[in-house]
Amino acid sequence: PSALYIVPTPIGNLGDITQRAIEVLSAADLIAAEDTRHSRKLLDAFNIKGQLWSLHEHNERARSGAIIERVQAGQIVALISDAGTPLISDPGYPLLRACREAGVDVIPLPGPCAAITALSAAGLPTDRFSFEGFLPAKSGALNSRISDLAKESRTMVFYESPRRVVATLSAMTEHFGADREATLAKEITKRFEAIVQSDLAGLIEWLEAEPERQQGEFVLVVAGYQAPDTEQLPTDAEKWLVRLMEELP
Ligand code: SAM
Repeated sequence: PSALYIVPTPIGNLGDITQRAIEVLSAADLIAAEDTRHSRKLLDAFNIKGQLWSLHEHNERARSGAIIERVQAGQIVALISDAGTPLISDPGYPLLRACREAGVDVIPLPGPCAAITALSAAGLPTDRFSFEGFLPAKSGALNSRISDLAKESRTMVFYESPRRVVATLSAMTEHFGADREATLAKEITKRFEAIVQSDLAGLIEWLEAEPERQQGEFVLVVAGYQAPDTEQLPTDAEKWLVRLMEELP
């Protein structure tokens, strides 16, 4: 049926495309892609011929109207990004806002996402987590963001670029402590995939041991803050404290 389909694509290994992704992309009248040259190669690999439109940070506001008109005219439109799930640190948000306002049907397909894949292998709590995406590039903003997260108790998931991964980890050792548990997932599904489970200091050591380890794409998963036992009052004491607080002016 006519709708905007959100279609995840592989994050490295072409074998991770789903059956439904191939079906929807093959049936699509229009495919909106972040980088059309990049996506054409992917589509060629699956012999998909659809019309491609570019949709990126700089034109997506302007293009959303035209895309919505195509869906309203009864066409199948697919949104893809360069890799993984669209809108997850990728373009698409203005388009989805416009769909919401226009009442246009949106059908999301499940599929590859670096954050979830890394989290599943991290060996850290997954019952609650916070997706933090990319950290700010400038050191002032970076440090203030990390310092804001120092007492975050949920597992945190970050996207990181090869240029900044060591600087980010160093800033984290200052605000979180060098012994905070963390996992670095590098080049997931690719030839040089590595899943390193250690603490923040250990990850820096691993990255610095061989310079080529700092190349490629990274997801950094960091354990949440755990209050040291001494900060926790016995349940008894806590109950009394609550009673006392009620009495106090
Ligand atoms: N939408 C994508 C997703 O669903 O994962 C993420 C797009 S974001 C622009 C790109 C970032 O995702 C990279 O800088 C890296 O942090 C992470 N990433 C993507 N592919 C990866 C891979 N194969 N291994 C590790 N990290 C990856």
